[in-house]
Amino acid sequence: MSFPPIPEPDAASAGFFAALDAQRLELRRCTACGTVHLAVLVCDACGGSGFAPFLASGAGIVHSFTRLHMAHHPAFAEALPLTAGVVELAEGPRLFARLVGQGPCAVGAPVMAEFSDCDGRGLVVFSLIAG
Ligand SMILES: [Zn+2]
Repeated sequence: MSFPPIPEPDAASAGFFAALDAQRLELRRCTACGTVHLAVLVCDACGGSGFAPFLASGAGIVHSFTRLHMAHHPAFAEALPLTAGVVELAEGPRLFARLVGQGPCAVGAPVMAEFSDCDGRGLVVFSLIAG
């Protein structure tokens, strides 16, 4: 079995990935201006470097998506075709993730985060909510 490629956390994303490993979607709010971020060291709105982590709702909408018919990694070969895209979280930040579920995929479609475990590392996918 081949595992999917798992990103290596860096200083900015260590908290985000540690939370994912615990099946939690955690965001960071700038303590100076309130802007919500996914994983940054410096706020791009005000230049502040203080952040307070908080639990995201997991709700979002599809900002953009693509349907993959070719596996660019062996771990995804059996899942083809698969859908992945950019999700805009209800709190504002956007992230790229796999899109799953029975709902129709379209820009603006509502999604909800679901968590899984891959060899001890947490993963998040977003399930399309049937309308
Ligand atoms: Zn800020």
